[in-house]
Amino acid sequence: MAETDLAPASDALETLRRVFGYDSFRGDQAAIVEHVIAGGDALVLMPTGGGKSLCYQIPALVRPGVGVVVSPLIALMQDQVDALRNAGVRAGFLNSTQDYAARQEVESAFLNGELDLLYLAPERLSVESTVRLLDRGKISLFAIDEAHCVAQWGHDFRPDYLQLSALHERWPDVPRIALTATATEATHKEIAARLNLDEARHFVASFDRPNIQYRIVGKNSPQRQLLELLRTEHQGDAGIVYCLSRNSVEKTAEFLVQNGIPAVPYHAGLDARTRAKHQSRFLREDGLIVVATIAFGMGIDKPDVRFVAHLDLPKSVEGYYQETGRAGRDGLPSTAWLAYGLQDVVQQRKMIDTSEGDDAHRRRLGAHLNAMLALCETVECRRVQILNYFGQKAEPCGNCDTCLSPPEKWDGTIPAQKLLSTVVRLRNERRQKFGAGQTIDILLGKSTPKVTQFQHDTLKTFGIGTELAEPEWRAVVRQLLAQGLLEVEGDYGSLVLTEGSAEVLSGDRQVMLRREPERAPAAKVRSAR
Ligand code: ADP
Ligand code: ZN
Repeated sequence: MAETDLAPASDALETLRRVFGYDSFRGDQAAIVEHVIAGGDALVLMPTGGGKSLCYQIPALVRPGVGVVVSPLIALMQDQVDALRNAGVRAGFLNSTQDYAARQEVESAFLNGELDLLYLAPERLSVESTVRLLDRGKISLFAIDEAHCVAQWGHDFRPDYLQLSALHERWPDVPRIALTATATEATHKEIAARLNLDEARHFVASFDRPNIQYRIVGKNSPQRQLLELLRTEHQGDAGIVYCLSRNSVEKTAEFLVQNGIPAVPYHAGLDARTRAKHQSRFLREDGLIVVATIAFGMGIDKPDVRFVAHLDLPKSVEGYYQETGRAGRDGLPSTAWLAYGLQDVVQQRKMIDTSEGDDAHRRRLGAHLNAMLALCETVECRRVQILNYFGQKAEPCGNCDTCLSPPEKWDGTIPAQKLLSTVVRLRNERRQKFGAGQTIDILLGKSTPKVTQFQHDTLKTFGIGTELAEPEWRAVVRQLLAQGLLEVEGDYGSLVLTEGSAEVLSGDRQVMLRREPERAPAAKVRSAR
């Protein structure tokens, strides 16, 4: 190998030690850094906490010119830049939160070659003056962070990202490195296509986070269930609790505080100062819990988050994996705990049905939700299921709830037929639509006012389902939804049949269901920590 080939690698290692104070590269970092320093394009898929930042920061320091980092995380730019400056790196950012003077300062630093790294919000690149500015300076590389935002198939699409395809046309000689912690195979392909990364080398790390224990439980009294988890397994630990709505964020944080557990809320409805305060308390204090909407967490680097709890169903497996990935960055045992119920599915369906955007968009959202449901209702190893979703193979892990206490399978064909034929009868009825509650009441033979009002006690299926209790019927509904044998739609979460339902009704298809474990055996699970 010629000497010039060796030089960059040793520069990189020297920079890693001198600037960042680390001894060695991790995983693919060395190969990625070397490739980009040599001027190659790269597409990097690495789980949260894998160490993506160094993959572009080191080449930016080694190559002549300024490394331009495109990131959607405007709220974090100040922190990122401060951290780099503390390490002696000359960094700046341009985004909409700045005043004119601050922007001027960064721009002239850029032009004078006094910057190593410049962070940009993607929308800056649609401003002609920014493009002209970039033209006048020397760029060492483009880093496209959170690259999955360019993919429409992904769960976090941002239209501003589409124009990043133009980077290559305008600056064909500048190497580009696109990075993401979340990409299914479809998203991975879409990123490469949309960013014109045909020549890029792909670096795909294992997405597995072996120290995270995945657990998904049925939701009955979410706050109580959470409290029990915290008291039995996570006394004094720092963690993140995700809720869907601002209101439930507030209520849950209050509930924890009332029960003597330090917690603060975080959501987009709080003013910026409160949010910043809660975020920095979370980073600095030990054992604080943040109860948050998904607005919280992107780019937050706290190593000792011991658990991530979801009190509502995430909208996609990608989102779920990204959020749970914030636990256990230090590699120590951590818990990803999710409580979900039928109501979550009904609510999310409704949100999808009423969401803006075209049919294709709604279909995508629906597919994301279905995959999430399938993960919740699987009888197989959660980790295997998750990694398969990201196109990676794995063996049963021994560190998830289904591995630790395998759910029993049972032949649910007959209950499924009873339920589906009730749905058929309800659909035939004067075109009225009914949800799971009414359907189950009919199966159980309950003469509620609503049952009597619609004379549903005269239906042939009235009272034919007393072999199961109400929670079991709800589990049957959830699993039929997860298996695509039933769907919910509309404001009232009406149940509707799918193509698969017909096969079940005609007896051509067997339905295997999972028996709900009474309750996760806490002691057993805890000993795995
Ligand atoms: P990601 O962006 O992939 O989520 P980060 O770049 O934020 O991950 O890195 C996660 C953590 O790992 C950070 O605290 C970072 O300083 C640390 N880290 C990354 N690479 C190394 C390394 N080679 N040696 C030691 N620590 C590292
Ligand atoms: Zn497992």
